[in-house]
Amino acid sequence: MQDRLSEERLSKLLPMIPLLAEYISGGNAPDRSIYTKMLRGIGLETEDWAVQELEIWTVVLKKVRDSSSESENTSIVAQLLGRGIPEASAILACHSAKPKPLSVEPERIDLGILSPGEEASATLTVTGGLIKEVLSSKRLNVSLLRTTGGNTLIKVVVSGGNAGESLVDQIILRGDRGELKVPVTARWERTQDKPPLLSWCPDCRIKEKSLFYNHYAREYECLNLICKHKFPYPDKRVKEYNDTHD
Ligand SMILES: [Zn+2]
Repeated sequence: MQDRLSEERLSKLLPMIPLLAEYISGGNAPDRSIYTKMLRGIGLETEDWAVQELEIWTVVLKKVRDSSSESENTSIVAQLLGRGIPEASAILACHSAKPKPLSVEPERIDLGILSPGEEASATLTVTGGLIKEVLSSKRLNVSLLRTTGGNTLIKVVVSGGNAGESLVDQIILRGDRGELKVPVTARWERTQDKPPLLSWCPDCRIKEKSLFYNHYAREYECLNLICKHKFPYPDKRVKEYNDTHD
């Protein structure tokens, strides 16, 4: 192990310890390319002593993950103090190196109303730990896109359904600490099942389309104020009348 850094070198390198602790808290094992990336921010990327010191800090901070008692934490802080790190920075670093609880964004996937056969996809971002296992039904095609800085991107593709079908499913994400459930819902509806917005009213004598289809109420309503007739959907009379008129 290299000797303790001089005051000057340590003060230059110290801003790196919160970054390193944060990175480790995501369950990551930093390597040389990560150190170089971090050090570029303070212009020390070509300094071997800086990389070596970050390696030492990493070994110490990784112990936080498995530490379960106050005395173990105190010992980890003491090891950082032994490298010349000020007490406040050492305590804060140990605190931020602790694994964060798993969280996912968005918390649910609602793909809304799709056309029959239409497939749809969504992306989840998982933070706070590495995903070890993803469980889902065959209906969902799940793939891990990449893992950077402790985040995992998960692409979910739902294969097309039949008209009138509803999907109520879920994905289970298992990390090294706990698991998350993400509900997935979708519905397939034939668009041609929906009538045109304006149709001929079978009761009206006026020479224009006055029958309005209310999508939410799922019924027809005549806009002719003298008529104002309502028909449920689907309605045989409305259909027959529309088939004989343009
Ligand atoms: Zn009418």
